[in-house]
Amino acid sequence: MDYDIIIIGAGIAGLTSAIYAKRAGKNVLIIESKIPGGQIVNAIGVENWPGEATISGADLSEKIHQQVAKLGIKTEYDEVLSVEKNSEKNFTVKTHDNEFTTKSVIIAVGAEPRKLSEKQTKDAGKRAISYCATCDGALYQDQPVVVVGSGNTAKHEISYLENIASKVYQIHHDDPIPEDAKAVFVAIGHVPATKAFKEIVDLDEKGYIIAGEDCITSCPGVFVAGDCRTKGVRQLVTAAADGAVATEAAIKYLD
Ligand SMILES: Cc1cc2nc3c(=O)[nH]c(=O)nc-3n(C[C@H](O)[C@H](O)[C@H](O)COP(=O)(O)OP(=O)(O)OC[C@H]3O[C@@H](n4cnc5c(N)ncnc54)[C@H](O)[C@@H]3O)c2cc1C
Repeated sequence: MDYDIIIIGAGIAGLTSAIYAKRAGKNVLIIESKIPGGQIVNAIGVENWPGEATISGADLSEKIHQQVAKLGIKTEYDEVLSVEKNSEKNFTVKTHDNEFTTKSVIIAVGAEPRKLSEKQTKDAGKRAISYCATCDGALYQDQPVVVVGSGNTAKHEISYLENIASKVYQIHHDDPIPEDAKAVFVAIGHVPATKAFKEIVDLDEKGYIIAGEDCITSCPGVFVAGDCRTKGVRQLVTAAADGAVATEAAIKYLD
């Protein structure tokens, strides 16, 4: 099937893009490699999403994905490996299992956790390495654990683990891992998940897709939304805003 718009990523940016595209009468497909919601799924409490005084990231993601499903928008679960431009308004999106053709593309792949250094991975040995305290913390009830990192994500992981573990060590990137720690929780920031797109759009030196507030990339017909774009503020509302702007730009391109 030839789609009008394929949206890569079902985080808040991608889901919002899909709502705008479908309501504009476009034939749209979302492709998501993991689960809908993206990074926010693991957040315990979100308090800056308008209309919800406080809500868990999982509930917020579920609500938005239900809205998308109710509109009849299909989500394909697979990882996008590349996007190729065949001609004007004709792109091929390749995944592990499939190839899709579409007239335009919105890349909304967000960011993924930065991996532990080689030295610390070696140091961790057979101990578990986790990138999500909310997902795996409960496995270490009354046991010592270590959090690697010093930013906001690390603070969030530490306060979560303090209610579960017997002790929570905090160390920095490349510090030795305490001998008695049973698991290593990594919280050293995020990197844009854009490797698969470096042939089709221009990236900056950190790997973010270069685009202004209009969400238009270096490749006509390919748009970008959310945390994977060069921008100053990476938050839920700015991801949602990008979703709307990128879709409006795609519609203008199509029409
Ligand atoms: C712990 C934590 C707490 C946070 N708390 C808040 C908060 O309280 N308030 C706030 O405003 N912001 C918060 N943020 C930031 C917020 O989560 C992000 O700004 C926002 O979720 C970005 O949305 P996005 O759609 O751009 O990207 P993401 O949420 O990263 O979604 C991208 C999606 O694309 C998918 N994907 C990636 N690559 C591919 C591929 N090749 N093929 C197919 N799919 C792919 C991913 O699986 C993912 O589902 C928090 C972030 C974290 C990590």
